[in-house]
Amino acid sequence: MNKIFTALLAMISLSAFAQKTYIQCGKIIDGTANRVQSEITIIVEGNIIADIQKGYTSGGPTDRVIDLRNKTVLPGLIDCHVHLESQQNKNTLLEGFTLTDADIAYQAAIFAKRTLLAGFTTVRDLGGSGVNISLRKAINQGLTDGPRILTAGRAISGSGGHMDNSNGLRDDAFNHKMGPDDGVADGAAEMIKAVRLQFKRGSDVIKIASTGGVLDLSENSSGAEMSLEEIKAVVETAKDYGLKVACHAHGAEGIKRAIIGGVASIEHGSFMNAEDFELAKQHGTYLVPTIIAGKSVADSAKIPGFFPPVIARKATEVGSQIQATFSKAYKAGVKIAFGTDAGVYAHGKNALEFQYMVEAGMPPLEAIKAATINAADLLGLSDKIGSISKGKFADLVAVDADPLIDIKILQKIAFVMKDGKIYKNQ
Ligand SMILES: [Zn+2]
Repeated sequence: MNKIFTALLAMISLSAFAQKTYIQCGKIIDGTANRVQSEITIIVEGNIIADIQKGYTSGGPTDRVIDLRNKTVLPGLIDCHVHLESQQNKNTLLEGFTLTDADIAYQAAIFAKRTLLAGFTTVRDLGGSGVNISLRKAINQGLTDGPRILTAGRAISGSGGHMDNSNGLRDDAFNHKMGPDDGVADGAAEMIKAVRLQFKRGSDVIKIASTGGVLDLSENSSGAEMSLEEIKAVVETAKDYGLKVACHAHGAEGIKRAIIGGVASIEHGSFMNAEDFELAKQHGTYLVPTIIAGKSVADSAKIPGFFPPVIARKATEVGSQIQATFSKAYKAGVKIAFGTDAGVYAHGKNALEFQYMVEAGMPPLEAIKAATINAADLLGLSDKIGSISKGKFADLVAVDADPLIDIKILQKIAFVMKDGKIYKNQ
């Protein structure tokens, strides 16, 4: 008798556990097909897409139905370049001296939630103080809401390079000698150490800077700052741990070295030239353009006193270039993955990048693929995310109009599901 009762209980709990969600979609852009499909039902079981059926189906009496019949459903969007720990403001440089890791963590949790509610269910965080690793853990444990995160932990460059936080400061202002531990490394041996330290701390990807950058106090915005030998040492070491390398680069020479050195993606690529386009195509290197960041810093540079003069100059030089270079790169056939450098502008506005990509000549469907199937490929997650396909994670977003007709609608996400859980349904 007891046995029967136990078996009965097991059956009841099993059927309760097996509740499925039937998402009835008016239109879907699945990330792989080159056309919009109509009247499709996506069936979600747990955190996985269990099935995709033609027409509207609703399962059994215990199953749940989500009505998105007046919406267009897409795969969860992917931003390959964010910085969830911070958000640029006129006090950013000072904050480098005042904010503790705990301060950073509280604001990062808010930025992560904004990003998720904007429809970005996966992001690649390309560098911070290391709080981004704790943030990833907290989100995975369900302690706070945010996108699925792949993080670089701390980014790496040479002494005086883009990642050297002591740039432009008097020597004794920073009572600390920068080294591989801080992501500042010189020569192949130190680069290897810096990569291994990032792996040890839990990074999913390695980020380097092969040229100068805008938002640090060095005079160099785009000149090369890493040797080919150093880049190769990073890439080979990262490969040993199964990690890909993303490379911040503005100038053509630093871009060339990074591509030859074997990085997976060039971030920004502001002054990428015809030779770089050809090399990127040969090596299968992605360009992650971050147009919105370029425009944002160029706009902020026009506000008197927003940046110190050296940063204002660099922001004007580099920021305005990115959209035009992206346009040439796309037309030359370079692979593009969507990325925005969120944090350099306000978190949650990531989808503005789609509008800028389309303005630069990329068809809306291609821009969407850059943020879904292509981004998943760059992140090495093609089997799990990037398209609405059976067996992949149930990461879905929906909008009130067809984004192929009006790309701006992606800035107004109405529905967000990540890992089978609904975070927004308007
Ligand atoms: Zn960045």
